[in-house]
Amino acid sequence: MRWRFDVKNKEEDYSDESTLDKEIGRYARQILIEEWDQSKLTTAKIFIAGMGALGCSVALNLALMGVKNIIICDYDTVEISNLSRQILFFEKDIDRYKVEAAKENLERWNPEINITTYNMKLQKVRKEIYENVDIIIDGLDTFGARRFLNSIAIDLKKPLIHGGLFGWMGNVQYVIPGETACLECQPLIPRKRLQKPCTPLGKMRKKEREKKGETIDKESEEKIPSLLTTNSIIAGIQSQLALKWILGLQLPDENYIFYDGLSESFTRMKLNKNESCIVCSEKYRSNGVNFSISEQDTIRDIKDRLVLTWDLDEPFNLMYKGKILEDETKIESLKMENRDAFFVWNKNVTHPMKFYVIFSDELEPTKIVIDKIPKRFEIELEWGTITKTKQKIIKEAEKLNQKVKFYKTEKLKNGNYLVRYDKIQEIE
Ligand SMILES: [Zn+2]
Repeated sequence: MRWRFDVKNKEEDYSDESTLDKEIGRYARQILIEEWDQSKLTTAKIFIAGMGALGCSVALNLALMGVKNIIICDYDTVEISNLSRQILFFEKDIDRYKVEAAKENLERWNPEINITTYNMKLQKVRKEIYENVDIIIDGLDTFGARRFLNSIAIDLKKPLIHGGLFGWMGNVQYVIPGETACLECQPLIPRKRLQKPCTPLGKMRKKEREKKGETIDKESEEKIPSLLTTNSIIAGIQSQLALKWILGLQLPDENYIFYDGLSESFTRMKLNKNESCIVCSEKYRSNGVNFSISEQDTIRDIKDRLVLTWDLDEPFNLMYKGKILEDETKIESLKMENRDAFFVWNKNVTHPMKFYVIFSDELEPTKIVIDKIPKRFEIELEWGTITKTKQKIIKEAEKLNQKVKFYKTEKLKNGNYLVRYDKIQEIE
């Protein structure tokens, strides 16, 4: 059913026409567009992750244009501070689940569409649900969830359209698995910044953190500035890209768009695929990655370095020969050999990551593009000078916006002590 016929005479009176005619009436102006095919919107299935400011705006855009099957996922409730940006919610919706309120209000905007809701975390949504959609929209505000979404999009080869906001600024990136860079290939925004939520934790998210015994610290309560106007622009671009994908139109070569609302300028660029990407590179997915370890390491040491080099979110498990290893386990007790494989499970990556053991005294972590690379130092000190020296190192590092992580001090044969430490550059 293609609706590309001449509809100019249809703009008059629809009072007693069939549903089809009513629908044509509803979309009369957009179907005048030459490339338009309303039936493609009718059959399209879209998954929108997160009902924050971006998610709400994209959902409304697509719903009004007649994208018939929209799946929305969020497990939080509506808060008063959402109302200045999250255009699907009204005061009466405060404390309601976002997906429930969003569904009800979207169906009022356009009664002819189907909204399916998932009032749960993304990680709990069944894989088949993602498998059956045409496109995934990222309207999330935490890096962990975003990382999961990117990972499942790559796994299932679903296009993903990411949007991010920071006050006057915003960015959009589209990901076509196998063709363009994924969100982890070239992280342009320092991850620390991405981890700050734009939306304050609602009741459900707070409850969950408390259940897990996590204190709701300043960091997670710290919000990034967010503005409705910037949101409208970014959500508009996300919707436009989704629409073009549905209509089968060419997407721009530049897969990344940065918008600066103060100078009203757009910067577009093409992000290249990273052949060592943790998530999407074939090298990583099929072959695994080398990781240098030392006989003296404990599992905790290795986990620390995995956190630094791969930016993994704790907690995660490390598995070797079918066994999950405890933090205190010493490598020398495992009788590992060079090129033995070990696996890492992290809840935000959809498949286990495979690493190969490379025994080395050089513990410079495996090379990968990330925004903080630790540098290891060693100094020999006499007893009695250790604490003072450590304090000095920390102070100096702080001036350079670096963090210091000390390893266990070792006693040397000559009676001195060896202090090993990493300096990690913090990027703001
Ligand atoms: Zn990638």
